[in-house]
Amino acid sequence: MKSDELFALLRRRGFLWPSSEIYGGAQGLFDYGPLGVALKRRLEEAWSAWFLGLSDDYHAIQPSELLPEAVVRASGHLENFTDPEVTCGHCHHAFRAETVLEKVRPEGVDGLSATAIAELVAQHRIACPSCGQAALTVPAPFNLMFGVDFGVTGREKAYLAPETAQGSYLAFARMWEVGRKTLPLGLAVIGRAYRNEIAPRQVLFRMRAFTQAELQVFFDPASFAVPFSAVRDERLPVLRADRRAAGATDVEWTSAAELVAGGLPEFYVFHLAHLFRFFRDVLGYPAERIRLFEKSEVERAFYNRIQFDAEVRLDSLGGFRELGAVHYRGDYDLGRHAKGSGKDLAVTLTDGRRVLPHVLEITFGIDRNLWALADLHLAVEDERTVFRLPAYLAPIPLGVLPLLKKEHGPYARSLLDRVRRAGVPAAYDASASIGRRYARMDEAGAPYCVTVDGETVDPSHPAHDTVTLRQRDSRAQERVPVEGLAARLAEPLRPPRPPAPDAAAS
Ligand SMILES: [Zn+2]
Repeated sequence: MKSDELFALLRRRGFLWPSSEIYGGAQGLFDYGPLGVALKRRLEEAWSAWFLGLSDDYHAIQPSELLPEAVVRASGHLENFTDPEVTCGHCHHAFRAETVLEKVRPEGVDGLSATAIAELVAQHRIACPSCGQAALTVPAPFNLMFGVDFGVTGREKAYLAPETAQGSYLAFARMWEVGRKTLPLGLAVIGRAYRNEIAPRQVLFRMRAFTQAELQVFFDPASFAVPFSAVRDERLPVLRADRRAAGATDVEWTSAAELVAGGLPEFYVFHLAHLFRFFRDVLGYPAERIRLFEKSEVERAFYNRIQFDAEVRLDSLGGFRELGAVHYRGDYDLGRHAKGSGKDLAVTLTDGRRVLPHVLEITFGIDRNLWALADLHLAVEDERTVFRLPAYLAPIPLGVLPLLKKEHGPYARSLLDRVRRAGVPAAYDASASIGRRYARMDEAGAPYCVTVDGETVDPSHPAHDTVTLRQRDSRAQERVPVEGLAARLAEPLRPPRPPAPDAAAS
């Protein structure tokens, strides 16, 4: 499906729509409706179950979304969090320099001055993508953070967090005290981040307010042991930077063990493999659409020692898009905050060594992945629109439908109450024909529907207290007892966890 078709469908069903829509919409801001909220929540739950499931030493925290100026000065965001812009003197549109220069400089424009960018534009005679005139100029870069007044004096300034990661770096010292005083220590945040993007576009892919799920693992590089046997034989679709430099564009399926033999650390490959498995096994992204794209030294931020972006090919956006990444950031972050705060953030390990922990960061965009789920699982087929989400991600896991509203409604209502009390989120729908209601449930991604009919409610009928259970994907129907229905659905509705390290260890 094309991007605008997909968006129209999601808007029509109330998954999401442009924020401040009655005022014409606010660029880069979106509101989620009931189905969108439920899907987003299940995606967040699935992410937590998977990544917190990797280790008992990984914990969820919720840091503040407002950062005092001293924090963003220390982190480097105040100085460097810019996205060079190019503006058109003719039609006055603004573009990201990286986008405009994509063809002539595929490695991006990070680190280039405004003058250097202007030279590239002139040298390659780049025309305005909007009006076609050769009238592009390069203004001084502006900071992408939203600054706000803080306190009543008007002298203090704070910033909306441009990424959730900073909150984890700030929390490390406290969590070290609170916890077992051992490394690794993982801090996971699902939270909002804010960026004043120059050119918000592609719906949920470049937003000004968005939700990230990020795991920061603080570790001692000399002793970070992972249960590597759990992933050793997993084959990963990697596109290495050296092969790209030689012209390769296709992935090479390489086992985790081979990647380690080639020089990548076990701890890095372990987490990369689990990000891949999360895409394939939990979110149901087809493996052949996934690639782990290694950034070269010039492409990645200078503090990242290793970076693979986890990209997925999306038809709605015409190619691969980054949906997550694994960054080995060294001791850059705690080093910056130690300097900025004047606090020694090094820790003493049980063997007496004093170590400034390194950081492994696993990023994941919630909104982007919600879009990807729609792109990959929502399809029009056999004259029906069906959202083939894994059951545990479905906004409505179970639809409860009385065949006839008046005669079967009361029974269906009490069944609804019963399954909800047993922990199965369910929705009731009694309006329109049963076929029309199945169609609505298919569109909303409900994997199961049960229909209450005359036999269900008739105490003298052998099929009393049984319902018709319909599966979304196969449209198969079977008669099942009401007793035990919730228990039967409990397993498919539980998000998967990674294989237990102990069971997988050899
Ligand atoms: Zn123009």
